[in-house]
Amino acid sequence: MKPHLSRRLSVTEILRAEHALLIVAHPDDEAISAITLLARLPHVEIVIVTNGAPQNGRAARRAGFETLEDYSRARQEETRRSLGLLGPRVSSVEFWGVPDQRAIFEIGPIVGRLVELIRAKSVGCILTHAYEGGHPDHDAVALAVHAACVILEDEHEAPAIFEMTSYHAANGQVVYGTFLDYPGAGRVEVFPLSAEDRELKQRMLNCYDTQRYVIGRFLKTEERFRAAPTYDFLRPPHPGPLNYESRVWDMSGDRWRRLAARALDRLGLLEHVPAGLSRGDSPSRVNEGVYRH
Ligand SMILES: [Zn+2]
Repeated sequence: MKPHLSRRLSVTEILRAEHALLIVAHPDDEAISAITLLARLPHVEIVIVTNGAPQNGRAARRAGFETLEDYSRARQEETRRSLGLLGPRVSSVEFWGVPDQRAIFEIGPIVGRLVELIRAKSVGCILTHAYEGGHPDHDAVALAVHAACVILEDEHEAPAIFEMTSYHAANGQVVYGTFLDYPGAGRVEVFPLSAEDRELKQRMLNCYDTQRYVIGRFLKTEERFRAAPTYDFLRPPHPGPLNYESRVWDMSGDRWRRLAARALDRLGLLEHVPAGLSRGDSPSRVNEGVYRH
């Protein structure tokens, strides 16, 4: 993807945006990673791309649901309840219903819908996932956002893209709540949770009954954000096995990247993949430091 924004933008830019969009892969990603911003944004549109119900049915059964539809409906209701705690600052919530773990197969339709939404709502800033090999849907949503912004660049100013943390396995171990270094990424900005934020986050997380067994792993004292770099989605985000290659997800990095290349080709965007931007062997060539709010 070619450069789409000034990497010098501060995350606080989102707080000034008249129309901000938070787009995440799963119901609960927003409560896990972005409360400090969500609680301060004047207006935000929210899109949850997948239905949160992996098709193998294991997660649904573990949560006590007989059908994927029931499980997915329950996850949607949890999200509505959780986001309801933010009050009128949430302008709209859309559930796009892509099957969980299948977002990379649906890049074309996701990008099309996203371009329309950005145009219709005059979105100025987007907050989304980083490309980090943690979950194939997180990476797919990052890809779709960057692709949509490249398409929009030719028409008018594309929105600035900012990122929240999730998890990755850059050094062979799963790490939650920190970014992988990536050339060209903005400075990492740390937002400590105030007592009020912590209470809100806890109440929001408590809405996610079906996810109680995973949700406790995530940091509750601070959140990190940064301006997105220009990613080369056709190269691995870091050397070594990706997190989703070593877990229960039926996806390899090679396969994900082949699907990404096919989607970018169909969208006519392959030429925007930066030539010569190689991750190389050193993932920490660029580090603009950390700023604490
Ligand atoms: Zn997620």
